[in-house]
Amino acid sequence: MSSNRVPDTLTFECETGNYHTFCPISCVAWLYQKIEDSFFLVIGTKTCGYFLQNALGVMIFAEPRYAMAELEEGDISAQLNDYVELKRLCVQIKKNRNPSVIVWIGTCTTEIIKMDLEGMAPRLEGEIGIPIVVARANGLDYAFTQGEDTVLAAMAHRCPDYNGASPNTTNQDQAIQGLLSFLPLKARNVYEEQSVSTHPPLVLFGSLPSNVVSQLNLELKKQSIQVSGWLPTQRYAELPSVGEGVYVCGVNPFLSRTATTLMRRKKCKLIGAPFPIGPDGTRAWIEKICSVFDIQPQGLEERELQVWDSLKDYINLVRGKSVFFMGDNLLEVSLARFLIRCGMIVYEIGIPYMDKRYQAAELALLQETCNQMGTLMPRIVEKPDNYNQVQRMRELQPDLAITGMAHANPLEARGISTKWSVEFTFAQIHGFTNARDILELVTRPLRRNLSLENLGWTALVKKDKINII
Ligand code: SF4
Repeated sequence: MSSNRVPDTLTFECETGNYHTFCPISCVAWLYQKIEDSFFLVIGTKTCGYFLQNALGVMIFAEPRYAMAELEEGDISAQLNDYVELKRLCVQIKKNRNPSVIVWIGTCTTEIIKMDLEGMAPRLEGEIGIPIVVARANGLDYAFTQGEDTVLAAMAHRCPDYNGASPNTTNQDQAIQGLLSFLPLKARNVYEEQSVSTHPPLVLFGSLPSNVVSQLNLELKKQSIQVSGWLPTQRYAELPSVGEGVYVCGVNPFLSRTATTLMRRKKCKLIGAPFPIGPDGTRAWIEKICSVFDIQPQGLEERELQVWDSLKDYINLVRGKSVFFMGDNLLEVSLARFLIRCGMIVYEIGIPYMDKRYQAAELALLQETCNQMGTLMPRIVEKPDNYNQVQRMRELQPDLAITGMAHANPLEARGISTKWSVEFTFAQIHGFTNARDILELVTRPLRRNLSLENLGWTALVKKDKINII
């Protein structure tokens, strides 16, 4: 287990919370794709509907497995019966889509009118015969990716109890066998011999695309660590068994409620590790899991060096450049740590919410990285104020601002290159092999500037920055 101490020399500040981010109900966009037999019902108003319709872009034309239960005047003034209305909708969903689980997403309005979703769900579940999971992923309490956290925390309650029997790992094995099929038979046998393990069960939590799941399983399997299951799984019916004696480890920095639920309610043991983002993070993540299971990691150092070597072309481009994270998705600390390792200077890490206990190992790695690279520790600003941040950027003139769409074009027009932060949430950024994708995103504005310069369109690249912010 990791120490839950936060390094002393990092400075934390807290501002007004006046910042742009996506509403957490946006998590339905990736979760309905991940859990293939689910249906998400967002119980809210037209405001929520407009947001989803616009934010999710072309996805809405692909008959997604989510819908809005739009509240009307009658619902809000309690003239209509909430239970009857929701039952009508859920029966319709069952008839049309026949999902294995319906997830109700509570919104600001259901909070304010105190609609008792948690009270209604078990009764309705019994009547229609489909599990109903309730997650309060509203904009009053949470930001963007924390929506996934509320859904996974609610789902953790539905995981079967671990009874000490050997967990079922067939699904992961099959996925890994698929990935290995290109290897010659001899190499495959060597690999399979390594895969016998005797450690306690390990369940990983965090929603990742299935190929990234297989990659991380495979990395751990190389160290003779068998992953017993993931929360969430591809299918709701295959949720992993959790309970006393099961070790759990997160793959994303925004899952602190899920971690707490697994520890407190399900009595699992949490492995507090840095997150597998960037080759440095991935190595530290695997090493931490190995150390908990008393396993000596094999060949990790060389693997990390190999990846750094393959990133040289990008690193030459970013080295010495400065970056400013405005903060809206909670991935900021891990990304900043990776970029500092790449030789960048991070002025500020804005972040909506910082759980210092859950992120302790990541913060320690950030500090270690700054010391090793000889750079100043960035300031970490929780609940940032976008107005103040723009003022600070005006002073600092960073080479790159990682920010939301609201500020991207205005900043570009003022000579500050920007990268849209939401892309980091949807791109594949975990594990050794995906480090390239992170740098691909980070360097895109820098490469664009270079090619515009090469074209001789210097007038479009604002070299002499205009200070009209
Ligand atoms: S912030 Fe509240 S009202 Fe706005 S979209 Fe999110 S849940 Fe709906």
